[in-house]
Amino acid sequence: MSSLLFPASVYSTRLERAAALAADAGLDAVVVGPGPDLQYLLGVRGDTIERLTALVLGPGIRPTVVVPRMELAKVRSTAVGSLGLAVADWVDGDDPYELVATAVGDAVRVAVSDALPALHVVPIGERLGVRVELATPVLREGRMIKDSAEIAELRRAGEAIDAVHRRVPGWLRAGRTEREVAADIAEAIVAEGHETVEFVIVGSGPNGADPHHEVSDRVIGDGEIVVVDIGGAVPSGYNSDSTRTYVVGTSSPEAAERIAVLVQAQQAAVDAARPGATASEVDAAARRVLAAAGLGEAFLHRTGHGIGVSVHEEPYIAPGNDLVLREGMAFSIEPGIYFAGEWGARIEDIVVLTADGCERLNTAPHGLTPAG
Ligand code: ZN
Ligand code: ZN
Ligand code: ZN
Repeated sequence: MSSLLFPASVYSTRLERAAALAADAGLDAVVVGPGPDLQYLLGVRGDTIERLTALVLGPGIRPTVVVPRMELAKVRSTAVGSLGLAVADWVDGDDPYELVATAVGDAVRVAVSDALPALHVVPIGERLGVRVELATPVLREGRMIKDSAEIAELRRAGEAIDAVHRRVPGWLRAGRTEREVAADIAEAIVAEGHETVEFVIVGSGPNGADPHHEVSDRVIGDGEIVVVDIGGAVPSGYNSDSTRTYVVGTSSPEAAERIAVLVQAQQAAVDAARPGATASEVDAAARRVLAAAGLGEAFLHRTGHGIGVSVHEEPYIAPGNDLVLREGMAFSIEPGIYFAGEWGARIEDIVVLTADGCERLNTAPHGLTPAG
């Protein structure tokens, strides 16, 4: 679900850039299936179904959308219509791969988007008689660097999720279940300006020690730490993602101390996030603070992930990622500490890199937040 937010010229620039990047990479054609890449390039996500929808682009190729006729009106109401892109529609019984082949022409090196299902990748490769490659390096380049309109949308999403976090203490109290709290949060995610709820994690007590916990019928107890990680998409399709750690009543002094260190670790990574730094350096900044306090082993995952029209995308802020960060990149900084069977904590903001540092898009209080 997304409406055409940006002027048509934004999409034509993105399409031209993708074709130029494909040329630089030595690719003759790129086939983009439904998903975030299509949303970025055309303003429509498309549906991943057995019927093929795909955008074909490349150096010297007039961008062409192959689409089932029953989806034609929907696709025409997007950048496809406003830019007057070529459309090759088909009905059941036709061979959509023939239409892809026609659009691709006599291309030798053909790449496909990450999200194109194997269901279509294999027949496209067979029909073209080529070994298809991944278009990730070409398509991620545009999506990784956000322009000012995209940053404005991420800012809007950040403000909306902050407004929800500010209301969380009112819903969190001993005796309620995680699921009850999550239902209140989900309602507020939409009420505060998102179009969709993408995820709601409420991890109380030992459930907070599992970074992948979502919600359960567990009853929240007095004195417990609760991890609340939430996000949604605003109408343009851009996402929010923010985590805060709450305490119902009073925590143990040890937990409060450890969470104070986590706040410092998160701040250290925010301070390290600037153009010219590598992704692994930002990750290491958080890791160093936790390790110095003896909490290195408790940090079980990477420090962050890029965000935009998908919740998780490049750049990944992880050990070993030598990608040099650039102005306009947007990503999460979310170190966490996890003590199996006991409790966990995570603090997460989205940041956007500016010319000489970064802007934090989430400003709800970062420390252990009292509730209940
Ligand atoms: Zn999150
Ligand atoms: Zn995240
Ligand atoms: Zn995540």
